Amino acid sequence: MSILPIFIPHAGCPHQCVFCNQKTISGQKLAAVAAAKEQLMRWRSWLQPSVGNEAAFYGGSFTGLPLELQEELLALTDALLAEGFIGSVRLSTRPDYIDEERLQLLQQHGVRLVELGVQSLDDRVLAAAERGHTAAQVAPAVALLKRFGFQVGLQLMVGMPEQSFASVQETVRKAIEMHPDVARIYPLLVIKGTPLAADYAAGR
Ligand code: SF4
Repeated sequence: MSILPIFIPHAGCPHQCVFCNQKTISGQKLAAVAAAKEQLMRWRSWLQPSVGNEAAFYGGSFTGLPLELQEELLALTDALLAEGFIGSVRLSTRPDYIDEERLQLLQQHGVRLVELGVQSLDDRVLAAAERGHTAAQVAPAVALLKRFGFQVGLQLMVGMPEQSFASVQETVRKAIEMHPDVARIYPLLVIKGTPLAADYAAGR
């Protein structure tokens, strides 16, 4: 199985988490359908067709995009699904951008797995990172995704401001209780152009 990552940096995201500069992380500065298409065409020239291949929209909050733009992006992967070049799609988004209308759309376009950027299940840590959502919003989002038949991934982060080892342990315990299909654990990095980098430079 090959993952075909398509970066849509900051697309759909009205937030600025203190650690995030998606444009730097992904190296992809255009959050546009044309840029997504270009990335997919590149993968298409490098890989063999397989229903085990999965296209993956990363780097933004996919379900925060206007529905029409989500449809335009999913039309790109629909074409690859139709010809059997890929067998499924995954995407990442935020727990507070999950509702029935959004999930109905994803269901119609071969989306298999939805990864939620959770980072922590400790409200103090979420507030310090200026995430803009609470820990309590995660479990209902996971439950709704499961009710719609999606596999669920939880993205967690370690090394965040205000985060103790005990807080990480508690987050992991709560994450396990939600029975995700996938969990990713990222280390927090101080990346240029982020509020965290400014804090770092100021010795905070
Ligand atoms: S919600 Fe995700 S994309 Fe948006 S600023 Fe935070 S980490 Fe970056």
